[in-house]
Amino acid sequence: MDKPLKILLVSAEAVPFAKVGGLADVAGSLPKALRRLGHDARLALPKYGQINEAEFGLTKVLDSLPVPAGSNHEQRPELVEGLAAVFESTVEGMPAYLVGNDKYFGREEVYGYDDDGERFVFFCRAALEMLKELDWRPDVIHCNDWHTGIIPNWLKTIYKDDPFFADTATAFTIHNLAYQGIFGPELLDFAGLADYGLIPHPTDDGLSRVVVLMARGILFADVINAVSEKYAQEILTPEYGERLHPILAQRQDRLFGILNGLDYEVWDPATDPDIPVNYDVASLDRRAENKLALQREAGLPPDPDVLLVGMISRLADQKGFDILAEASDQLMEMDLQFVLLGTGEERYHRIFSNVAGKYQGQAAVFLKFDGALARRIYAGSDAFLMPSRFEPCGLGQLIAMRYGSVPIVRSTGGLADTVQDYDPSTGQGNGFAFSDYSEEALLAAVKRAVETYHREDTWRTLMERGMRADFSWRASARKYVELYHKALEFKQNELDV
Ligand code: ADP
Repeated sequence: MDKPLKILLVSAEAVPFAKVGGLADVAGSLPKALRRLGHDARLALPKYGQINEAEFGLTKVLDSLPVPAGSNHEQRPELVEGLAAVFESTVEGMPAYLVGNDKYFGREEVYGYDDDGERFVFFCRAALEMLKELDWRPDVIHCNDWHTGIIPNWLKTIYKDDPFFADTATAFTIHNLAYQGIFGPELLDFAGLADYGLIPHPTDDGLSRVVVLMARGILFADVINAVSEKYAQEILTPEYGERLHPILAQRQDRLFGILNGLDYEVWDPATDPDIPVNYDVASLDRRAENKLALQREAGLPPDPDVLLVGMISRLADQKGFDILAEASDQLMEMDLQFVLLGTGEERYHRIFSNVAGKYQGQAAVFLKFDGALARRIYAGSDAFLMPSRFEPCGLGQLIAMRYGSVPIVRSTGGLADTVQDYDPSTGQGNGFAFSDYSEEALLAAVKRAVETYHREDTWRTLMERGMRADFSWRASARKYVELYHKALEFKQNELDV
């Protein structure tokens, strides 16, 4: 079990190079944690325009790597072959390979272009070809979300008989099933898979006529996992399955759940330079200063005795803002203050600006992305609200607990796996959790938090439980190693048949 593995983690984004969401945190942290366990984990991602060569000490390791593309050469001769440059950077000892190509990645942003399908197919093809050129043969290629779903597909088709990959297994991680990478059938040509055709969806005709990169990752990877155990179960149901649940059901024996870890060095109230006063579980009293500072910053009356509820989130339906909007008037009738930091959908900007206007002195709303303010909210709020409709893993609740802010969550996905509702009769629990996705259930949970807040010893116990819990990467990385071994076993069994 403990033989050191060679693992290439392939991702569209990774800290510290490029970050859009939680995927970047995982892709940045997991390989480092794997290396600490003795494995040779490396990273591959595109070299976007926003990535500064000097800042990351990039050195060019391959100048003009031929990247095959296209299978219907008569019709689209321009797609036959492109060239990529591969750069290497070392992050705390870990090699990271960045695939450069002016046409596809000479632009600033990570996503959002009309040719995103071609961009990520090109990146993936370059990543595989790069391995051969560098002669570094991974045991496992760990793919993440739709951007990399084509790789497992290739290893079972056009690379099937390639001796270089004969012993290489694939793992595919679903970070968010809602984003699937759906493209027209012409992408198959570009990917060199025209001869294999479209893949019929068992129940959904619409999805049978398009290329769904997420579905291909699910169908062809040797193992699949979602980023929490609960989410791995939920996505098998129509409610959370985003139309892919019948495909996941076909692969259920290979579907696992592994909770993301949190980088405990990056998120540490004892050393965080962005918060007014540092503290840890042994010096919790110091935390009160951060609450007062946050109240002042947010224009709320500085009052240690009122429950300060914080929220930091993308303003998207997924995060529960529709029920929160409906509940807002009743919420503000409670003895609490509310601070929201977030950006996203325009209508939520409008709704929550109105809430802040109507409840001045009780509610403050910051409609922006601000990493330092986020830290001050984690360090200064008493409770942290995440009423998500669905939540594959969720980082917010983990950071909140690390900082001593007690989570109030809807029990779904990773929130269900990490936050247990406080039960006054047994004293068990580390937060407040509700099940129904409704304003009533949300309000009832917040009400219980308000009441519990005034029982000082109990509240302190809840804070301490969160701060003492271990949601670091170490445990998750061990589970990924087990997953990689399963991938290798599945692959071997197939070869034996
Ligand atoms: P998701 O990846 O679905 O957006 P997560 O809870 O997994 O949700 O991760 C969100 C991360 O982004 C957290 O670290 C949170 O603090 C941060 N974040 C979200 N919105 C903002 C914002 N407006 N300003 C600063 N940080 C934010």
